[in-house]
Amino acid sequence: MEQTKQTHEFKTEVKQFMHLIINSLYSNKEIFLRELISNASDAIDRLRFKAQTDSAILGDDAEFKIKIIPDKQKNTLTLSDNGIGMTYDEVVENIGTIAKSGTAAFMKAVAESKAQNTLTPELIGQFGVGFYSAFIVADKVTLITRAAGQETATRWESSGDGTYTVETGTRPSRGTDVILSLKPAEKDEQNFLEEWTIRNIVKKHSDFVAYPVVMDVEHTETETDDKGKALLDKDGKPIKKAPEVREETLNSMKAIWARDKKDVTEEEYKDFYTHISHDWNPPLTWIHLKLEGVTDYSALLYIPSQAPFDLFMPERKHGVQLYCRRVFIMDDCRELIPEYLRFIKGVVDAPDLNLNISREILQQDALVRNIHKNLIKKILESLEQMDAETYEKFYNEFGAVLKEGIHSDWSNREKIAKLARYKTTKSDGKWVSLTDYVKTMKPDQEDIYYITGDNLSAIINSPHLETLKEKDFEVLLMTDPVDEFVIQSLPEFEKKKFKSAEKGDLGLDAVDDAKKQSFSGLFETIKSHLEDKIKEVKPSSHLKDSVSCLSGDAYDMSAYMEKLLKATGQARPASKRILEINLAHPVMEKIQALHSKNADDAAIKEYSLLLYDLALVAEGGKIDNPARFSKMIGELMTRAL
Ligand code: ADP
Repeated sequence: MEQTKQTHEFKTEVKQFMHLIINSLYSNKEIFLRELISNASDAIDRLRFKAQTDSAILGDDAEFKIKIIPDKQKNTLTLSDNGIGMTYDEVVENIGTIAKSGTAAFMKAVAESKAQNTLTPELIGQFGVGFYSAFIVADKVTLITRAAGQETATRWESSGDGTYTVETGTRPSRGTDVILSLKPAEKDEQNFLEEWTIRNIVKKHSDFVAYPVVMDVEHTETETDDKGKALLDKDGKPIKKAPEVREETLNSMKAIWARDKKDVTEEEYKDFYTHISHDWNPPLTWIHLKLEGVTDYSALLYIPSQAPFDLFMPERKHGVQLYCRRVFIMDDCRELIPEYLRFIKGVVDAPDLNLNISREILQQDALVRNIHKNLIKKILESLEQMDAETYEKFYNEFGAVLKEGIHSDWSNREKIAKLARYKTTKSDGKWVSLTDYVKTMKPDQEDIYYITGDNLSAIINSPHLETLKEKDFEVLLMTDPVDEFVIQSLPEFEKKKFKSAEKGDLGLDAVDDAKKQSFSGLFETIKSHLEDKIKEVKPSSHLKDSVSCLSGDAYDMSAYMEKLLKATGQARPASKRILEINLAHPVMEKIQALHSKNADDAAIKEYSLLLYDLALVAEGGKIDNPARFSKMIGELMTRAL
């Protein structure tokens, strides 16, 4: 259907985004070319993927390429591809809005970093600035595109001033042209129409693109005689032939993963990482594998040096691309790498793969399953072999994700448990492995103690740890939400059981039975005053200095777990907890004395409530009636002074 010219306004976030890119990338202008080449290469990938099930879509145009056309007369630079193209609706949908997930998070990251003045190219580099980067160098951008299988084309144009137009256009065949009307170059700046400049930028940023990036280059050759000797004119200068224009490929397209390790330089590895990840920070490390045998594949996998902002967003794309004999099959290949290694980026090339494989059946493919298993093994091995300093960097960024594997990958959970690190009550902020924890356990210590919570300083000071600290037993401080699930999947490590420091009886110092007995009446009374809040009052094995704390039975949910479930909307009716009382605390003798005189004394009810509130406050919980609490403390202070 013919569409007349319509003017639209960019969405607010696009305007902000464009403004941001133009203003923060002024010293990195050349990356616009990489972004446009990468879009063109993606468009060809998508076409080829579709052609696997619908070969007619290619027509007679199956020689894929991306052409750069500089025009000095018109002052334009055009990028032309014969990829999948876009329909009118796709243009409206894709260009003019930011459809990508995570945009909100990006804008938030930007807002935060702007406040701190740290909007670096590295930060922007995490996001891939895409099509809009054209406006870094152009004051007008025209896009003419024709979707595969369609007769009409669409023309989109904008001067980056807040509006754009869309209308029906013409293009002789499938694909996309992006025409940049270049801004005047500033003094000493690169001229993006120069052959030499374009060659350099392509070589630097897009050498690994899998399709030829071509340009027409003028060649002037000299006349030669039969023996290949240059012919000279009467002044002794070589005689030139008439200039000839030839299309030249500017990139090497070399599949770096298919080469031998010893033939690849560090520089090449790093460049390739930037190419596939759009992350400008150098990777922390990489694993280059070439396996021959039952499962034949090669892989080049990278561990980034920084966690991306969207690591915990479920819709996030995974970073592993699948190839078959250097032919791109798909990106975001979740079947190759488990969720808990989703930070890995790279390429897997499986020569025996069925080229027509679809995403749906990939998971059942025996070869893919084998590669999956093998890659996990190799990645875990490489983590085990990392030097301490690099591993710490890795763990700070990705430890919380890796630990998910203890819960989700039954067959590897012991290996992953060995890779887990925790801060402890004795580690002074440093990471400790479970192996080291077990090595330094006290002779009379039988279990591995842990406590969970979201706030390190709150849990390290928790009253539940008083007895353990006095005994000099180390306690693991677990502050990642995933730890709650991890601990359920890992009942023991090196034959030592895990024991919660806040749930159940620690069973360390048996409380004297006679003493327990003498308090039973008071405990009954306290319980009757707190009936709706707790299920039991009992002497504590956790406390030394504090008077009370709240705990659960060994099989109850931890306070942190309840909080987590509440946050995800899966709250269950809160299970009643146990009020533990420190019988050695002097104040308990006094309450006991009051109780034996008159069990109905109104003060006992007040003190019961206070014991409960104090326990809640100590674990960072919210008390029901803070005003009453503070009034009571005030009264007690008056009486005491
Ligand atoms: P990104 O590539 O990161 O998704 P862009 O802003 O660069 O973001 O592009 C937005 C969308 O426009 C792409 O996802 C793609 O669908 C489409 N697009 C961009 N360039 C091309 C092209 N050369 N051919 C076909 N589609 C394209």
